[in-house]
Amino acid sequence: MSNIAEEIKKRRTFAIISHPDAGKTTLTEKFLLYGGAINLAGTVKGRKAAKHAVSDWMEIEKERGISVTSSVMQFEYDGYCINILDTPGHQDFSEDTYRTLMAADSAVMVIDGSKGVEAQTIKLFKVCVMRRIPIFTFINKMDREARDPFELMDEIENVLGIRTCPINWPIGCGKNFKGVYDRHDKTITTFTAAMGGQKEVATQTFDVEGADVDSVIGVDYHQQLLDEIELLDGAADEFDMDRVSRGNLSPVFFGSALTNFGVETFLKHFLKMTTSPLPRRTTTGIIDPFEEKFSAFVFKIQANMNKAHRDRIAFMRIVSGKFEAGMEVNHVQGGKKLRLTQPQQMMAQDRKIVDEAYAGDIIGVFDPGIFSIGDTLCLSNEKFQFEGIPTFAPEHFARVRQIDTMKRKQFLKGVSQIAQEGAIQIFQEFNTGMEEIIVGVVGELQFEVLTYRLENEYNVEVKLEKLPYEYIRWIENKEEIDVSRIQGTSDMKRIKDLKDNPLLLFVNSWSVGMVEERNPGLKLSEFGRD
Ligand code: GDP
Repeated sequence: MSNIAEEIKKRRTFAIISHPDAGKTTLTEKFLLYGGAINLAGTVKGRKAAKHAVSDWMEIEKERGISVTSSVMQFEYDGYCINILDTPGHQDFSEDTYRTLMAADSAVMVIDGSKGVEAQTIKLFKVCVMRRIPIFTFINKMDREARDPFELMDEIENVLGIRTCPINWPIGCGKNFKGVYDRHDKTITTFTAAMGGQKEVATQTFDVEGADVDSVIGVDYHQQLLDEIELLDGAADEFDMDRVSRGNLSPVFFGSALTNFGVETFLKHFLKMTTSPLPRRTTTGIIDPFEEKFSAFVFKIQANMNKAHRDRIAFMRIVSGKFEAGMEVNHVQGGKKLRLTQPQQMMAQDRKIVDEAYAGDIIGVFDPGIFSIGDTLCLSNEKFQFEGIPTFAPEHFARVRQIDTMKRKQFLKGVSQIAQEGAIQIFQEFNTGMEEIIVGVVGELQFEVLTYRLENEYNVEVKLEKLPYEYIRWIENKEEIDVSRIQGTSDMKRIKDLKDNPLLLFVNSWSVGMVEERNPGLKLSEFGRD
């Protein structure tokens, strides 16, 4: 096997998804610890605290660099080269959060054992399902009071619609958390809490049939475990690698990220079960990661990393081959050849200039304003586009006007450029032209960012009037539909995007169904595709 193929084969590129506070940061931190990428736990946390100090968010553009630093992390572990993609949550939940999943080959879903499946998990999960990537579940915080594990499995299956296969099984929880049972090895690993930066916990492993188990976990817990094992073996789906790969079955692990219990076991199993870089579909066929010719697509654009130069950084996921610094590549959408200089890669704590990178890796390059989300870069002269970066449904809408009417031109330029980066989406009234701009965002913080950036970068003050709509639908069969004749509901509004695609806005979710019912033949979609 060539060196390039070997490099690609050992790559694992995945995203961690969760609802805020489920323990994503803590788990990531422990992963980095095993990879030797950080020496002390708490480093990621500190950075996160800085990231979320929203009051001074606008002033900490420097820290936006830092938040980017944490958006992709690369480290080595057990012969693998791991790229973790962070999916920003909390206030900075945005379209970027969804788009990050386009760059991943699999996802780790962290669930709080006491809370079960929460709202943000559902949203991110839907995107993973759309991509049919493998999804692994880590049920966290077992050192706290948690819900019944069978109930949690049921909830994942019913709410998310994916079958589950527990790889290990918890014995008690909270103060009575005894450890986990490994279903394959039929062993019990006992729980010992290790706080802070300790890398490995001294655990003990027993055979579940062994004579000493009673004394270690207690007679009652032992009996309960034996009953549950019987139930699981009879009722749970069997492990099936094919179904895992297709995203139909999620292997489930229990543990406690904070006390570092079950984390390394999870990481080891996960790295074995998950996939190396996957092939990607393009408009002209499938591109295999092992193809020698470099190709990549832009999935994220981050503006104004450096206040002195108003540059942007375009992040790209390498799909095939090897990248070398200074390489001349074809920018398909721009119709030009460019040299990618100063490519950067994010390590655990720093950004560094990279000389080479491989399929599966994420690199960032300076963008003088030429890239758009979804753009293709490649060595070949073929013109193709990678499929599968849809436009995601914004959930907040506002009418935006510039206060000084003389600044119309700057205003339009500003909103268009910011929209091109993918931070916001812009729409117009269905019947009139650019008079009124309607902005849609996935996370409300983007409104603040927009106002701030228009003022600071484009010198345009704007007024924002929030609109009550929360649901947007693209019309899939727009060619067949006369939009002005759609039988609507009182809370429905027709709009269009800048390419004149019609869309519908709704205040209530049930209106979406009502409109579908009233207009047979009308096909609505939660994702926009060009
Ligand atoms: P994120 O928002 O998903 O990144 O969550 P964090 O990793 O920041 O964790 C949220 C809170 O839960 C923090 O106070 C963590 O210390 C705590 N936490 C995370 N994992 C565990 C765990 O396994 N057990 C307990 N008891 N607390 C945890």
